[in-house]
Amino acid sequence: MSRIAFIGLGNMGLPMARNLLKAGHTVVGFDLAPQSLAALAEAGGVIAGSVGDAASGAEVVVTMLPAGRHVRGVYEDAGNVFDTAAPAALLIDSSTIDVDSARAVAAAAAARGFAMVDAPVSGGTGGAAAGTLTFMVGGSDEAMERARPYLSQMGKTVVHTGGPGTGQAAKICNNMILGISMIAVSEAFALADKLGLDRQKLFDVSSTSSGQCWSLTTYCPVPGPVPTSPANRDYAPGFAVDMMLKDLKLAQAAAASSGAATPLGASAAALYALFAAAGNGHLDFSAIVKMLGGS
Ligand code: NAD
Repeated sequence: MSRIAFIGLGNMGLPMARNLLKAGHTVVGFDLAPQSLAALAEAGGVIAGSVGDAASGAEVVVTMLPAGRHVRGVYEDAGNVFDTAAPAALLIDSSTIDVDSARAVAAAAAARGFAMVDAPVSGGTGGAAAGTLTFMVGGSDEAMERARPYLSQMGKTVVHTGGPGTGQAAKICNNMILGISMIAVSEAFALADKLGLDRQKLFDVSSTSSGQCWSLTTYCPVPGPVPTSPANRDYAPGFAVDMMLKDLKLAQAAAASSGAATPLGASAAALYALFAAAGNGHLDFSAIVKMLGGS
């Protein structure tokens, strides 16, 4: 069993840390929010007073933080992870952050002799609690194999996506598909309404035809055809508009810095930004159908 530092005990980090505790590890946690620390202690974890205290002597460090600037600070700032973790410790960043920051932190880690992977997740808070997350893992073969047992204790599927940064790349490419496809499905329902085509009939046709996709068959944005989709519970998330917008912005930043053409990704980011600015950031992202006239 290992001594694991877990930094960032929010909606995702806390249930992930609980699963590491259940697997028998010693988890020393730190978060800026006192209530998160109290919840970790209740689950049997050890509370640290700072990032440096948590990481001090840790064999494994897991971070689950909001954005690239937080990740860089937690690893690189004086007295933090790079200064305090055990020599050759394994570092796992599971936050969803920009590819450039992920690669910069991984390079700085390697220069100091640490093995590091970027391992963002899909599966949401439900998957974090149930231990069924999917991890997309960027890093060397060796770092991947060291990380695998810990990731398997927090998730069900672990995919090695390539070198440093490719975990983040996989995450934002996937979510760009999702953001665009949800808009496409929503537009189709809006058009069907105008044409007098019953929604259930469109679903019956498209779910078994070439329009079939996850946004239609699992997460249908209009109430009715898929009873478990958020449309049937007033668009309570699920996966919030603000989260989708964050990932679409990361995809746009990556497209700009790599020179990729992503015109539909750009349009999706603009539409979600408009929808969020109108006060809908807390709703499930499938609520975008309302702005497109289909609900
Ligand atoms: P959250 O805001 O609930 O948790 C982030 C935590 O980090 C907070 O508790 C905050 O206090 C803490 N934090 C910030 N700066 C810190 C610092 N310097 N030191 C210590 N703690 C610090 O967010 P979340 O929903 O848990 O998401 C975390 C990451 O996972 C994000 O990158 C998000 O995009 C990604 N993600 C979230 C979901 C989801 O459904 N919530 C799904 C997939 C991926």
